[in-house]
Amino acid sequence: GAGTAYEALTVETLPERLRGVSALASRVGNDPGAWQVEEVGDGNLNLVFIVSGPSGKVIVKQALPYVRLVGDSWPLPLYRAYFEYHALTRQAARDPGAVPTVYHFDEAQALIIMEYLSPHVILRRKLIAGEHVAGLAAFLGRFCARTAFRGSELSMPSPEKKADVALFAGNVEIPAITEALVFTDPYFDAEMNSHTEGLEPVIARLRADVGLKVKVQQALQRFVSNTETMVHGDLHSGSIMSTDSDSRVIDPEFVQYGPLGFDIGMLCANFLMAYFSQPAHRGEDLATYQEWILSVIADTCSVFEAEFRDLWRSERTGILYPQTLFEDQGQDSTPACDAVLAEIWRDAWAVCGIEMHRRCLSLAHNADFEDIADVRVRAPLEARNLLMGAELIHSAATLADAKAVCALARDFN
Ligand code: ADP
Ligand code: MG
Ligand code: MG
Ligand code: MG
Repeated sequence: GAGTAYEALTVETLPERLRGVSALASRVGNDPGAWQVEEVGDGNLNLVFIVSGPSGKVIVKQALPYVRLVGDSWPLPLYRAYFEYHALTRQAARDPGAVPTVYHFDEAQALIIMEYLSPHVILRRKLIAGEHVAGLAAFLGRFCARTAFRGSELSMPSPEKKADVALFAGNVEIPAITEALVFTDPYFDAEMNSHTEGLEPVIARLRADVGLKVKVQQALQRFVSNTETMVHGDLHSGSIMSTDSDSRVIDPEFVQYGPLGFDIGMLCANFLMAYFSQPAHRGEDLATYQEWILSVIADTCSVFEAEFRDLWRSERTGILYPQTLFEDQGQDSTPACDAVLAEIWRDAWAVCGIEMHRRCLSLAHNADFEDIADVRVRAPLEARNLLMGAELIHSAATLADAKAVCALARDFN
């Protein structure tokens, strides 16, 4: 239980070990003998239990001292639960209702007890199944804009923001996974890489492209050294849970302070991979569903811009772009906001292209492509995705908007 040395929970030990946690008992029921425990973790890193009882259900998420996907040969610090907990509380403050409510945190046990989302399922599964989610783009565009803006010195008092940067700078090993698996491994023959047979010529082309690798390293440099805002850090369609009309963001253990455009860039990449994988998953409704995915990308980005501009006008209380430089002198700050947004999109489209590469070339592929059993079907779809990723990295600074990105996707499809 609480206060004792870390020990991984099991389905069998959980009721006895957590019986004294009132945040749990008060929601599930006071008799731990009546609790049912199911382990549902489908992620790469942690244990996730649903605990059910006569009064309700909660999620118990516990970090393991190693990477679950690989095993105890790859140790990973338990303190990531501490950063996930602090990320969840900040996201809840910056975009109320967007993340599961946290009921309890136990640092020694690396354990978070939180709201059980139901009947939500992982968005990636819905995209593979061809399902629609109403309000998805509006939710995601607002989440990305609010967390980006409200976690930056456009809004936060500088001392508070700097203290937060210092706090999250302690999360070393998890961002290191991103630095390696996302930004580096796809571009050389790294040990844990894997790829679908048949992609070799495309991979050779990417690795021979020095200009591309320079742009990727520039994006990595910004990722590691630019602390503009608190990023979720792992905002893919497996970190979003949805019903047909309600969505939430989960799993922010990759949190760090980083570029304003990081999350929305990674997110758009995952919609683009859903788009390119669809020919293997759909029948007659292929074209319609693919267009729906592109509309989610375009709408997410336009909601992001609108929300960001709104916050720019109404909540610009930080040290950056102070009112006195603009409105107080009768001047318009719109050109300044335009310039900030242009940098956000430049960063976002580069990250987008890089994420499209790493999910096909590095460790931790995504189910959109991985669920395509026939490699002769999968390889050409992944090839389109890889080539479009390279185009995004090259043209990140000059792309007009998300609609231009959608047009590019249609060209590569
Ligand atoms: P990991 O960090 O290991 O990737 P996640 O936080 O992504 O763990 O959770 C793994 C799985 O557990 C999710 O894919 C989802 O199916 C389930 N899950 C996690 N959090 C919740 C929640 N709050 N409500 C319902 N299911 C959840
Ligand atoms: Mg996860
Ligand atoms: Mg699930
Ligand atoms: Mg995770």
